[in-house]
Amino acid sequence: MENIILIRIGEIFLKGSNKRFFENRLLNNIKKSLYRIKCKIVKAHNRCFIENFQPSDQEEIVYRLKKVFGIHSISPAIKIPTDFEGIKQAALSISPTQGFFRVTVNRADKRIVKRSMDIAAEIGAFILKQKPNLKVNLFEYDFEINVDIREEGFSYIFCEKIAGQGGLPVGCSGKGMLLLSGGIDSPVAGYKIAKRGVELFAVHFYSYPYTSENAKEKVIDLAKKLSEYAGEITLFVVPFTEIQYQIKEKCPISYLIAIMRRFMVRIAEKLAEKNGCGAIITGESLGQVASQTMESINSTNSVIKMPVFRPLIGYDKIEIIDIAKNIGTYDLSILPFEDCCTVFTPQDPVIRPKLEEVQKIESVLDVNKLVDDAVNGVETIVCRS
Ligand code: ATP
Ligand code: MG
Repeated sequence: MENIILIRIGEIFLKGSNKRFFENRLLNNIKKSLYRIKCKIVKAHNRCFIENFQPSDQEEIVYRLKKVFGIHSISPAIKIPTDFEGIKQAALSISPTQGFFRVTVNRADKRIVKRSMDIAAEIGAFILKQKPNLKVNLFEYDFEINVDIREEGFSYIFCEKIAGQGGLPVGCSGKGMLLLSGGIDSPVAGYKIAKRGVELFAVHFYSYPYTSENAKEKVIDLAKKLSEYAGEITLFVVPFTEIQYQIKEKCPISYLIAIMRRFMVRIAEKLAEKNGCGAIITGESLGQVASQTMESINSTNSVIKMPVFRPLIGYDKIEIIDIAKNIGTYDLSILPFEDCCTVFTPQDPVIRPKLEEVQKIESVLDVNKLVDDAVNGVETIVCRS
């Protein structure tokens, strides 16, 4: 009798070579997520198993697997060589002592002639005899004992089915550059896109000394939190003060944010290209603030060629906050450290900037030099959980 963890793989409708690619990625990501823990990862058809671990590590393994994209569900299980006495004892050992239950048998091993339903009834009767406070109810039950009799001569017995994250394994949809502020939205945007299989890089614009060391630490902590789901994230911290100064000096204050955002994406695109990313990701949500109107988004998009993914574009703030709480970024995001955007924020930013107007206003700046200087001043920080 051995304790193992059974992992069911999500989106299994993927076919052919694509499926193999998907599964290999997932296995690799599981390996990385469990790198601190001594265990063996075994692949099987549409599932995989974690074996040979210390019982005291089980909780940590499940906690980590719950954050790996591409996993549909997780079941701590007992593995035994197929033998009816053994199966009954194992089923008994994992069943609670009270409540309604049912036994479900899945018999892939067709050498066993008894029908699944008869085996289930036999196991059920055995358990009832030992634990008289239990009752069988096939339709409304408190727990279900599953017995999976596999072809290779082993059986798996389990009660719990823990939901995984779903999504696609990180790395099977390419790489993306996340604009990561210290706010609530952008970590959620990163989570959403990583869930679709994108490996993340992140860029943070930092206005030292107007924003403090604490604000930078907060962004590093957010990237680390996100890396629990997305795997290792390389964070680029870009010095942004000079650009903000120049805009403030030379352009009408109401255009400051519109122009600042154009600089942000230009710099992000350069870093994205250098690192083989195919898209930029932001936490924008339509109409949330002045810089997130259609006209503002158009003004920002027009300076770069790379696609910009905005997974939160149709989300309400309340919906975003819910996800942030769920994934554990919310408490970090609300720490009260200033962001570069808030330092120079004008009272009345232009809400619907006309593209030609923005271009004209911006033309007094040496855009290329400012962008190159910022890119050259980048600090690189590798973040992992
Ligand atoms: P967030 O909660 O993500 O900070 P927000 O509601 O504050 O978003 P904005 O300040 O308009 O909205 O920022 C929109 C998006 O621009 C952010 O979601 C993020 O992707 C990016 N962004 C804003 N400020 C920064 C920054 N200092 N560094 C990197 N990206 C930023
Ligand atoms: Mg913000």
